[in-house]
Amino acid sequence: MKAASYFFKTYKEVPREAQTPSHILMHRAGMIQKLSSGIYSYLPLALRSLKKIETIIREELDSRGCQEVLMPAVQPGELWEESGRWNYYGPELLRFKDRKNADYCLGPTHEEVITDMVRRNLTSYKQLPLNLYQIQTKFRDEIRPRFGLMRGREFIMKDAYSFDVNEDDAKKSYKIMYDAYNAVFKRCGLEFRAVDAATGAIGGDMSHEFQVLAETGEDEILSCGSCSYSANVEKAVSGKVVEKPLKSGSKDISEVHTPGMKTVEEVASFLSLDPSMLIKTLIYLVDDKPVAVLVRGNCEANESKIQAFLGANAVAPADEETVKRVTGAEVGFAGPRGLKEGIAILVDKQIYGDTGYACGANKTDYHLTGIDPENDIKADKNGDFTFALEGDPCPHCGGTLKKFRGIEVGQVFYLGTKYSSPMKCIFIDNEGKEQTAVMGCYGIGVSRTMAAAIEQNHDDMGIIWPAAIAPFEVIVIPIQGGNDLVENTAENIYSELKKSGVDVILDDRNLRAGVKFNDADLVGYPVQIICGSRLVEQGLVEIKVRKTGEKSEVKIEEAPEVIKEMLLAL
Ligand code: ATP
Ligand code: MG
Repeated sequence: MKAASYFFKTYKEVPREAQTPSHILMHRAGMIQKLSSGIYSYLPLALRSLKKIETIIREELDSRGCQEVLMPAVQPGELWEESGRWNYYGPELLRFKDRKNADYCLGPTHEEVITDMVRRNLTSYKQLPLNLYQIQTKFRDEIRPRFGLMRGREFIMKDAYSFDVNEDDAKKSYKIMYDAYNAVFKRCGLEFRAVDAATGAIGGDMSHEFQVLAETGEDEILSCGSCSYSANVEKAVSGKVVEKPLKSGSKDISEVHTPGMKTVEEVASFLSLDPSMLIKTLIYLVDDKPVAVLVRGNCEANESKIQAFLGANAVAPADEETVKRVTGAEVGFAGPRGLKEGIAILVDKQIYGDTGYACGANKTDYHLTGIDPENDIKADKNGDFTFALEGDPCPHCGGTLKKFRGIEVGQVFYLGTKYSSPMKCIFIDNEGKEQTAVMGCYGIGVSRTMAAAIEQNHDDMGIIWPAAIAPFEVIVIPIQGGNDLVENTAENIYSELKKSGVDVILDDRNLRAGVKFNDADLVGYPVQIICGSRLVEQGLVEIKVRKTGEKSEVKIEEAPEVIKEMLLAL
């Protein structure tokens, strides 16, 4: 490719909303163009990189027996009614009606469509296992589209779905995909972790996320310094054991006037208690039914754990009206005693370590003191409903948990029969009996992976591509245009590299050297070959490695071989 005729342009200025390196740099390097909020066009440079990521994915999946399909982006609402998700997916699902007034949506994920596709073909156990995937545009009407391609509304995803005869085989399929994902992200040249994850709106029992480590990541991961335990904070378990009892307070319950005191800090300081000795009573709507969740005052409730514990489709903090109705008090005074009948009470197990807590009295401006959780709270269930913290002990080995930030580039889910059962994806087993297929689903954010690579690999000058997914591996930069020797040398090296299969671009634009150098650093080609007249006259060219900034002079005729060697290491 020759730069003078290539459809790209670099920019100095940055759109106001661009805050993260990948967004800023992809815009400046002329890779993406915003069409609407969270909706981008991929220009040639970006598409080259995307295609390379896609090729890596295809190679790793095809070699493991997966088969590629392509499903429609537009999906009938009926299928979502069948799986039960039409009502629960929430406003991220872009719904619309066709001219006949039938419900449709733009696919944010394809469990329904694939399950329908497979059930219409599946008859016998002999057809299983099956793993089908596609690389396709998804649409999610994200509440806050931001960071360019990192959280778009329209984005490219690779989604795969496995179908097996039983749970054991389905777990084997899961493991194959887990290994495939490790291989994909390793080949992309990224530093990443596979972490234990919550299952969210997709559902299912077991899940791992693949997180690219980067300061700008939206996710938090807790990793053990001593063993391989790594989990998203939504899922991470603290190995902390509460000693019983720690510091018992009064055993007699009394009502205390706490006018206008609604926060843990206000109440704790007024009662001269440590915040950990307050019980926060949080009212949630779980699939539209109110539930009270009790956690210590110094802990944060973890909605994702609550959702997983209850096997619910949706968990959200209750609105003010609901809180008033179930507690009979203003917001800020909820407590476990005297809630409206029928409200389930979930107690975080860390609460059971002590007695003598304070909690809301379900009466405006009043709290109770002297609470002994074992005797004074009628818990329906207890469990782990809070976030583990950095510094907590690892639940596996007791080592110390350390926090990292990550960008979720992929996720694998063991689904069981969550979709195949309501949608009747069945087959006849080897004993002639009807069985339900056991499923897994597996996603990679292809466009997000490209952005994550930049978040992890950049400097003040621009992008530093891992060679495997760089739009071009090498740029040849002739300087002092008009000098035939320089131009011929550049052209020869370019042709030579191209012939031997290196992905190379020649910067034949009629621009000053400084501009070309800046653009080369900005776009981030892993290797630059600089042809200047002084060196060329001595039979030499300069090679610069973008990542290290290292420069070396090599003989012109040796340049192509040296470059090929270098690329292997980048
Ligand atoms: P997130 O938690 O970041 O919203 P998710 O868990 O909802 O993502 P999945 O349903 O697991 O996403 O989708 C599979 C992959 O698709 C994700 O791992 C991610 O890489 C990518 N992805 C999801 N949402 C977006 C988005 N809005 N923009 C770009 N990529 C996305
Ligand atoms: Mg996910």
